[in-house]
Amino acid sequence: MTKVLTCRDVGVDCDFVAQGASAEEVMEKAAQHARKDHGFTDIPPELMEKVKAAIHDA
Ligand SMILES: [Zn+2]
Repeated sequence: MTKVLTCRDVGVDCDFVAQGASAEEVMEKAAQHARKDHGFTDIPPELMEKVKAAIHDA
């Protein structure tokens, strides 16, 4: 089952979609995107929780 997370799922106005075979893979891709495109140097734990909760099956 493919896991999906979009920036919109966490309330960000952005068309980015992270997909992966596992939640861990999606989290990794989302973290890279957040650093590269949203200027995060560190992802706050509460945002990580929000992201984790928003990951769903494709
Ligand atoms: Zn984004």
